[in-house]
Amino acid sequence: MSERMLKFVATPQAMPDKRPAAERRRDFDEIYANYAREKAAEQAARCSQCGVPFCQIHCPLHNNIPDWLKLTAEGRLEEAYELSAATNNFPEICGRICPQDRLCEGNCVIEKGFESVTIGSVEKFITDTAWNQGWVQPIKPRRERTESVGIVGAGPAGLAAAEQLRRKGYQVTVYDRYDRVGGLLIYGIPNFKLEKDIVQRRETLLRDSKVKFELNCEVGRDVTMDELRRCHAAVLIAIGVYKARDIAAPGVGVPGIAAALDYLTASNRNGLGDEVADFDSGALNAKGKNVVVIGGGDTAMDCVRTAVRQGAKSVKCLYRRDRANMPGSQREVKHAEEEGVEFVWLAAPQAFLGKDKVSHVRSVRIHLGMPDSTGRQAPQEIPNSHANIPADLVLKALGFDPEDLPTLLKAPDLGVTGWGTLKIDWKSMMTNLDGVFAAGDIVRGASLVVWAVRDGRDAAERIHSYLTAKAAMTQGAAVALAAE
Ligand code: FAD
Ligand code: SF4
Ligand code: SF4
Repeated sequence: MSERMLKFVATPQAMPDKRPAAERRRDFDEIYANYAREKAAEQAARCSQCGVPFCQIHCPLHNNIPDWLKLTAEGRLEEAYELSAATNNFPEICGRICPQDRLCEGNCVIEKGFESVTIGSVEKFITDTAWNQGWVQPIKPRRERTESVGIVGAGPAGLAAAEQLRRKGYQVTVYDRYDRVGGLLIYGIPNFKLEKDIVQRRETLLRDSKVKFELNCEVGRDVTMDELRRCHAAVLIAIGVYKARDIAAPGVGVPGIAAALDYLTASNRNGLGDEVADFDSGALNAKGKNVVVIGGGDTAMDCVRTAVRQGAKSVKCLYRRDRANMPGSQREVKHAEEEGVEFVWLAAPQAFLGKDKVSHVRSVRIHLGMPDSTGRQAPQEIPNSHANIPADLVLKALGFDPEDLPTLLKAPDLGVTGWGTLKIDWKSMMTNLDGVFAAGDIVRGASLVVWAVRDGRDAAERIHSYLTAKAAMTQGAAVALAAE
């Protein structure tokens, strides 16, 4: 093994420099700086090059982590980039926003007492360097194919599939109902986690690789599935899940209560320079307000931290379980606390007070009871434990479900699961409609970017197998006819 590695004993874990909370609160810029070259090499050298790398096993893309850490430690960054890009279409994005504490880094097996290798930050460093050095170049397929593939949805699943198919020489068109490319990368996830130019340079790369985009084009409204199936040899549906779960509590319809994604989209659009009526009117702007966010996932964390940056008077996060049982990343909670967010654990909303506008959230304390059928402790209300929390803006961040897909897509025969997600055959990734595949959140339910990338890559492989088999059959039939 290289002498450079196994340095975890002498070198402590060091993340890239994090900006002070007081400074972060004032802008929407990313909170971490990039590693300096020597620092990245030093941190990569902490890896002990495990024979069975649990980090790699627990990365949904099975990235070859130990090898690109070794190459980084040796200063061979171009090779590290090639290796990292071979399994991940957006390493610099995953390096920024994967919940590493639950995936690769959370499974790093460096001896107890030493912190894990900072895998995500090194991954981000490698690909940011590759962009700066001009190593990331548009795709030039070895041969062009005549078959075209239509992809519905320009989020990470659709974009990863588009890139993989283009590499194989297919003619690819991506349709999206939004006016910009990126899905939740552009309109959901805030700038302080993922700056928008990082997403936009990926769009430019795909356009330069001759992937076509049809934006402001909603499938089911502007074009039908039948039309797409007629003009493409295969279609991939990667439209994500967008129906916000609601709260059944008195007063929930009173003005001043909004869905988390509407709020985040308005903030992102404002940051991108769009005119946003609900932001300018103050309806979806936290400035000067007492904000209460309900939920404990990534979306809730993004809302509280956005509200802080918009200049809210106070920001509270109400979650019915405790810190250890929240779905959001612990790293995000820590950032939020540093930035001044108050977490009200074990509390749930019971009613929303206020006549013309919300004024308070009536909350009740929660006790975690016996585990339910899912194995999680069931939340139980504690009698007579009410409190009225002042609120001028309430954001509901309780998760997402799929819409009624056969209706939305005007494809009445499209098969769905009991959860409303698209039903696929997991081996072929095809829906019940011949030549129509699906990937990402629309199949898994609300999940992670890294899983969307994995699904997009897998779907591209399956589409390729389907189209090659189809071409072989057509060729076989033509030969048989000629022989008759
Ligand atoms: P999406 O990203 O949702 O993209 C779907 C695209 O399809 C959209 O562009 C949409 O406009 C388009 N579309 C929908 N319907 C149609 C139609 N009928 N016709 C044409 N186009 C259509 N994951 C992480 O890993 N880390 C995080 O930090 C993180 N933070 C998040 C924060 C928020 C606020 C949210 C909501 C999610 C977050 N996630 C995070 C989850 C992650 O963003 C998603 O899992 C991922 O984006 C799913 O990718 P996708 O391509 O399946 O769908
Ligand atoms: Fe870790 Fe995500 Fe990178 Fe995989 S893609 S190595 S899980 S940060
Ligand atoms: Fe290196 Fe940790 Fe992965 Fe082992 S688990 S190969 S030490 S990063």
